Amino acid sequence: MATTLSQPKVGIVSLGCPKALVDSERIITRLRAEGYQIAADYKGADLVLVNTCGFLDSARAESLDAIGEAINENGKVIVTGCLGAEANVITERHPGVLAVTGPHQYEQVMTAVHTHLPPPDHPFVSLVPESGVRLTPRHYAYLKISEGCNNRCSFCIIPSLRGDLASRRIDAVLREAEQLTKAGVREILVISQDTSAYGLDVKYAPYKWRDTERQTRFRDLCEGLGELQRESGVWIRLHYVYPYPHVDEVMPMMADGRILPYLDIPFQHSSPAVLKQMRRPANIDRTAERIAKWRSEVPELVLRSSFIVGFPGETEEDFEHLLGWMKETRIERAGCFKYENVTGAPSAALPGHVPEEVKEERWHRFMQAQSEIADARAQAIVGQTIDVIIDEIDEDGAVGRSKADAPEIDGSVFIADAAGVSQGDIVKAKVHAGEQVDLWAEVVA
Ligand code: SF4
Repeated sequence: MATTLSQPKVGIVSLGCPKALVDSERIITRLRAEGYQIAADYKGADLVLVNTCGFLDSARAESLDAIGEAINENGKVIVTGCLGAEANVITERHPGVLAVTGPHQYEQVMTAVHTHLPPPDHPFVSLVPESGVRLTPRHYAYLKISEGCNNRCSFCIIPSLRGDLASRRIDAVLREAEQLTKAGVREILVISQDTSAYGLDVKYAPYKWRDTERQTRFRDLCEGLGELQRESGVWIRLHYVYPYPHVDEVMPMMADGRILPYLDIPFQHSSPAVLKQMRRPANIDRTAERIAKWRSEVPELVLRSSFIVGFPGETEEDFEHLLGWMKETRIERAGCFKYENVTGAPSAALPGHVPEEVKEERWHRFMQAQSEIADARAQAIVGQTIDVIIDEIDEDGAVGRSKADAPEIDGSVFIADAAGVSQGDIVKAKVHAGEQVDLWAEVVA
């Protein structure tokens, strides 16, 4: 009688931010390496793993709903991720879950999977690509350089969920980046909770990569990644950078093209009084001046940021400070959130909570100011030829992004005639129209 080799199948539901996505990718890589198959839907799975987000109350509610749906549809559910740090919240609502583990507890996740769905006898190790398994399209990938955070912003519970800063060794990070480029990745997005603090926890420990000693620090990381850019043309995009003084050192690398002229800096506010209540790292006092200096060194530079309006104690004057600062610094890409209490965050106990209708009104004024800045930039680009990375091809043509646009959060470039263009290509395109963060362009030879 012939033996059939059956592979146990695990379904994955991945919620939350790009950092959680990277956790899911690591778990999937481990599962695949041990011979598990990843199921496309609940019905085809022997067990479902839900990677949760526990940041805002709305994200917690979404995570709890997703766990409920997985239990209803499949029945066998293991929970991991940020909300997993609060196991009682999950088990009270969903007593049927098989196990709960916290964020980046890969070993515990694997132990729980082994207990409830044993691995096959013959792992299909060769099925795992060299660069691991990624959930993003093949042409871009997130590179996580550290976990946790040493800051204690009053609205945030990430340090209590994910712990203090724990940086990965620079040689391991650069090796991973190298493998990604070898596997065909055209854009690497560097992520962490606080990218400019990289290496602080390990006292900038030095390691050898490609026969050169590099310190585990922001500048050396950018230099190493810049070397890969020179060899393969890969785009290097920096996220979650705080404007510490050493960020200035990266400007020459942006000016000569090794690092994309793009910085994602979560400013959250500009008013010193609000920032103090938020307990934000980095002094904003001279930031507008520094931004002006960066722009003089790197004229192409685009800044992306996120802001919170309606933080407890925010006055009309504080809010107008923010609008004025935004206009002065011309932040081209910005997300704006209306303040929301997060269970366990100290800001919930602050006095002066802002009424919902005031938050709503400020949010609209903020978005109006933001879209005027984005629109002015889009108009200024019309007629220029820019580099575009192609994300997808559909019946209407190609959709891509410029250097000013990170996937998922920023704008798109629409190209009607996509003949000869493939996903992952970086093409030259002439812009013929622009509106807010989006551009319309045609490929030029
Ligand atoms: S920098 Fe502040 S907001 Fe960001 S993860 Fe750390 S504590 Fe949270």
